[in-house]
This record gives sequence, structure tokens and C-alpha cells, in this order.
Amino acid sequence: MKTVIKDAILVSFVDDTLIQKRGSIFVDNSIITKVGELDQETRVSSADIIIDGKDTILTPGFVNLHCHAGPTAIRGIAEDLPLTKWLETYVNPAHRVLRKEDALADYRLAYLEMLKSGITHVLDMYRFPEIGVKVADELGIRSTLVPYTADVYDYFESPKNTVKNVHSFSNTTGLGRVWVGFEHISYCTESCLEQLSNAALEYNTGIHTHEYETLDFVENDVKRYGKRPIDIFKQFKMLNQRLILAHCVWPTPEELQAMAAAGVSVAHNPTSNMKLASGIAPVTEMLQFGINVGIGTDGVKENNRLDIFQEMKNASLVQRAISGNATLMKAAEVFRMATVNGNYALKMKAGQLREGYLADLVLIDAKAPNINPLYLENSISAVVYSAHPGNIVDVMVNGNIIIENGKHVIVDEAKIVESAREAGASLLKRI
Ligand SMILES: [Zn+2]
Repeated sequence: MKTVIKDAILVSFVDDTLIQKRGSIFVDNSIITKVGELDQETRVSSADIIIDGKDTILTPGFVNLHCHAGPTAIRGIAEDLPLTKWLETYVNPAHRVLRKEDALADYRLAYLEMLKSGITHVLDMYRFPEIGVKVADELGIRSTLVPYTADVYDYFESPKNTVKNVHSFSNTTGLGRVWVGFEHISYCTESCLEQLSNAALEYNTGIHTHEYETLDFVENDVKRYGKRPIDIFKQFKMLNQRLILAHCVWPTPEELQAMAAAGVSVAHNPTSNMKLASGIAPVTEMLQFGINVGIGTDGVKENNRLDIFQEMKNASLVQRAISGNATLMKAAEVFRMATVNGNYALKMKAGQLREGYLADLVLIDAKAPNINPLYLENSISAVVYSAHPGNIVDVMVNGNIIIENGKHVIVDEAKIVESAREAGASLLKRI
């Protein structure tokens, strides 16, 4: 299947250069085969699908580098509490009663919301990954599932089960795959961390967990293992390029340096960190050290919205607000985090409008009032500071149009919302 998106405003990094120019993108099955000028009429006429991009901004699909597809039941209910109390009162009780059918409704709702925000790949820490893998294909979104593994509590995925799932999906050809994940170091015994580390090596997967989110969590790690998180990762042979750490609000400069040297990636979650009063991650310093930093929404229970536009804007504004320096975290820099850096962490050849890269693409309405007047040279600002999910026109994943004119082309959106409401109400009754 050959698709062409004709005459759009292209906004993308190509290596270290940001492009903002008019052009056309040619896609053959799942791959971008050409990023062309406008005079490619023979090529255009041989395409099976021609999309007129004239009134759109075309960007690579966005990566949500840290999310939890659920429990969505507590969206808007688990509010205004300190993090530990919030976990004890709502999050952990919801996990304790979570069933497979709840996870199914959560995955569908979260993946629909993300696609409609231009997210084409999510690093998703949740339960029942075998369901997430199916829903990823059903809705047409790339998902790297990293189960909430723990063996100190009984209601998360056991290490044995996670290793089994990593094994089962190690040769998957669909859009979903399973990597190694765990909730927190302090929720895991030594044996659990050993099994997970070995599985990541054996099946060549990444490892994802929360770290340095609050000072309390760091203290819990030190209590259990007698050393700082960075040394615990080292002990279990996890301090390397496989490791992707969410949050990282409280690492020391020496720890940041060690992370940079080891090639660790960070998922920055500005909205969640502000809402739960976890603090402000030292992202400016991370970038100075050369750490690969992507952007994540975290889940709906801590953010309420899986909106990559909100996250890019907050990532920029928060660093300026605390530093008093309006030149930090420019629009291009956060855009790069949500496209190039996210894909680098997930080891995907995607995130750039470039020949040979995966055709995960987003078309944004260039005629929307909130992003006009639009000039070629300010289109990056339009994407990062002005756009919102309501401006999404089309989303392509793996060469297939999944969102067309703002609507999912395969699933019944109303049904997904209704099922999530029913599952949510039933879960709340059981807490
Ligand atoms: Zn999280």
C-alpha cells in the first residue's frame, strides 16, 4: 500500500536539524520512502491513497515515555492528597481488586485517548500485559508494556509471571510487546530484581521503573538495600542503556553524571510531578550532562489527561519558572524529547520525517484559530505551545491511518467510553 501526504508543513528533526518547510511524505506499507519537494507528480499519481496536507502541520508521531493505562476508575476521584496517602487510599486498593475485565476497559480507553492526542507509541506500566498487547493491535497504537512487577505486595504482577510474559511476547510481530518493568525497587526483593535483570538480558529488552520520584521513595530504597538507588541498579546489573527511569526528581548531580555515563534514559513527567507535589525534576541539568530525556504523561490517576501537548508545554514552562531563565527548554528541545528521544529510549527507528523511518505520523489542523496566524518559521511553536488534542486531524501508525478527521477509524469510541464507565463504577464499589 502506497500513501502520499501531499503539500503539508513538515515539522521534524532530521538528525540535529529542525526542519519547518512545505513538502510531501511518501509511505510504502509501514515505512517512509521519501520526503519530497512538491514537484513529484509521477510519484503522487502512483499512490493508492493521496491525502491533501495543504491545511495541516505534519509531525512524527509522539512517544509517551511513561504512562499507566489504568486504573482509570479513579480518574478525578483520587485527588488532593500527598503521594503516600494517595497510594494507600486509592491506588493500591484499586490494584487489589483489579480484574482482567477492568484492565481491558482501561487499555481501550487509555489507548483511544492517546491516539487522539497524537501519541503513536506508549511505554505503559500496567497489569495483565497480555491484554495490553491485544488492545494495542485492536486500536492500532504501538505499546511497550512493562508490567507493574513486585513481590513485596501480593496484588502486582509476580516476577515469575512477568518473565513468562516477556518470554511469550519475545517474538511478537504486532504493535504491542512486553519489556521488563517494576513499580519501585523497594517493592522488590533481591530475588525479584535478579530475575528481572536476567530476563532483560536474556530477551534483550529494556527495563522501566519509577525512581527518585520523592525523597520518601529514595529513603525506602536505602532502608531496604542499604544504598542509594544508583548503586542498587549497579548491583543488579541494570545501570546501562536498557534502563529508563520515570520521574527522577531527586537524584544528586553525581547520580545524574553516573546515569549519563551509563546511557540511562529518563522519562520526564512534569504535570504528574507538580500535581502530586513531588517536586521539579532537574531536566536542564540532565540535558547538560547529555542524558537522553523523553516525556511522559504518567497515568490518568496522577495527571487526569494523557495529552502530550500539555506535557511538552509544561516541560518547557516549569524549567523557566524555577530558573527565571526564559531561554531554557525551547520549543524545539521539548519537541525533540517527545519524538527523537522517546524513540531512542525505546530503540525504535521512528520519530523523524525521514526516509527509512517508520511511518508513524500526525497531522495537525493548521487552520485552527488557536494556532493562527501560522507562519512557516513559527510552526514549531504552534505545535508545542498552541496545539491541543482537539487539533489532531489524522494519525498514522505503521503506515495505517488510525485516526481520520479526529475520529478512530476502527473502533466504536462511544462503546469504549461506556464500557470504561461501567467497569469504573463496578471497581469503585469493590474497593
Ligand atoms: Zn508512574
